[in-house]
Amino acid sequence: MDLKFLHATVLTQNDNRELLEDGGVAVKGGRIAAVGRSTEIERAHAALPTIDLSGKALIPGLINAHTHVLLLALRGTVEDMGAEAIYGYMSPISFAMEDDMRRALALLGVAEALRSGTSTLVEPFRHVVNYAGAMARTGMRLWFAENCADALTLKIRHGIYEFDRAWGETFLERERALIEKFHGTHGGRVHCQVAGHAPDNCSPWMLRQLNDLKEKHGLRRTVHMAQSKGEVAQVRKYAGCTPAQYLERHDWLGADVVGAHWTWCTDGDVALLARRGVHMAHCAANSSRRGPHTAPVAKILDAGVNVCLGTDNMTEDMLQAMKIGSIVHRGGYGGGVNPPPQHALDAATRNGALSLGAEADIGSIEPGKKADLAVLNLRDACMVPRINLVSNLVHYGHQGMVESVMVDGEFLMRDGRILCLDEPEVLRNAQEATAGAWRRLHEKNPDLPLPATLRRQP
Ligand SMILES: [Zn+2]
Repeated sequence: MDLKFLHATVLTQNDNRELLEDGGVAVKGGRIAAVGRSTEIERAHAALPTIDLSGKALIPGLINAHTHVLLLALRGTVEDMGAEAIYGYMSPISFAMEDDMRRALALLGVAEALRSGTSTLVEPFRHVVNYAGAMARTGMRLWFAENCADALTLKIRHGIYEFDRAWGETFLERERALIEKFHGTHGGRVHCQVAGHAPDNCSPWMLRQLNDLKEKHGLRRTVHMAQSKGEVAQVRKYAGCTPAQYLERHDWLGADVVGAHWTWCTDGDVALLARRGVHMAHCAANSSRRGPHTAPVAKILDAGVNVCLGTDNMTEDMLQAMKIGSIVHRGGYGGGVNPPPQHALDAATRNGALSLGAEADIGSIEPGKKADLAVLNLRDACMVPRINLVSNLVHYGHQGMVESVMVDGEFLMRDGRILCLDEPEVLRNAQEATAGAWRRLHEKNPDLPLPATLRRQP
């Protein structure tokens, strides 16, 4: 929709991080046509319909660089568990779900993402081709990937690592179908990547298959890396090296790769990853549920790694990701006030765009870029007094102040109402789907204990 926003506080996130008071932005053909003072935009684009953003901020839509929307089914259950939740609950429940449950949870993810000002989701998971269509139809900007593995995923929680090519092929088939059906579709709004789930469950054969797919279709890559002590120990046992060295050995490091977590990276790993230009998807908020995330963040930042932010699992709230990411990054330096709040906002916008190779299109408000924007209400108590908007936003921003989100110049949420979904129905369906997913999880895995949070319920 062609229009102009006037009288906004525009956080451009451009190279100079310009902030325009009484700023204007013209949107034409899904892209930003002009950015400037309201008076200039009004004069130059008089014919465009006007939206008055007095008392509001216009920011680039946030970019969630790593998430798994289906794991919202675990919300409120395994947050207090350690890494055993990965193969103990996250993998099994993803296989236990039926497709209607997957779609219901995926739409819940989109709803929550929009409510936190997010316009882009990067979703590597399992059976993605079975729910990607539902997400794509909402109008979100999306990067999909099937999280491939050829270790028998469901045996890992029993301490058994067994590679099986037929098992690996089932993932590759789903990835091929995903690429065929979705890559570059919806006017270039929906893309695919290749994803290795993690170094401990991807054999060299699987990594090679994924590299072949990457070459064939010109895709970028993503992988979980050094996420748990169990993963590090298994790679050491199997290959005699660290997860980062294992990926290096099998040609899986490069400027097209986003690695999630980096929790147990050594100094040598950080130097290697930085040298190869690998991006870090830092999921600081979810990783800090059991205490501040212990990734060597200060070393990673000092090495010049491009750090972006993700929510990973059980939440899609990028405002929380910024807030806790900022705290964790400061903690990495042993306390104090560095890095500044601007760093967290960059990670959630520009850096995310860079990690996707999409910096020419998204991540800032500049002429020629896609009109992926979020409107925030500054007449919210937590935004007053406002001396430094970036600092207010990173430290105190919350979902209640997000009013509108636009992708490709189309409103997906406007004035507090989600337009692309029937939100009450989405919430009802997600609640039902979650009950169904847990029921099926226990039918398929009767030995799996209920998490303590569920056991305490009457
Ligand atoms: Zn993840």
